[in-house]
Amino acid sequence: MSTGVIPEGTDPEEIEVKSVEWLARNAGPVDIAGARERETEAWERGKQNASDAAVDVRQDVGAAVVRLPDGDPHATLLVEGAGSDNGPFAGACDCKGYQYHDGPCAHLVTRAVRSILRPGEVPEDV
Ligand SMILES: [Zn+2]
Repeated sequence: MSTGVIPEGTDPEEIEVKSVEWLARNAGPVDIAGARERETEAWERGKQNASDAAVDVRQDVGAAVVRLPDGDPHATLLVEGAGSDNGPFAGACDCKGYQYHDGPCAHLVTRAVRSILRPGEVPEDV
């Protein structure tokens, strides 16, 4: 169990269990390529912070808590090979950006960008 991603006073176990179930229920295609083409705010923020973000990979397949340098930690789920025509990624995030906007949020962009540099952080869907 790594520390430093979860804010003080929060039970990391609680975040993990609740979120992964919710994320699995809400997971869908994550159109990273589309976000890049449209140069969305989330794409720019996620890309710029990819190397500085704290990514705490969890036991559950594809799950990780992501904290961007200027934001709060959010639970994410991202796997490769499960997307439809929108691209190779599928997943979800518990942030408002993901819930209320089309396309991937900055946290999912960060994970997708990092997966190129750090194989294994985003597992293939099996
Ligand atoms: Zn997010």
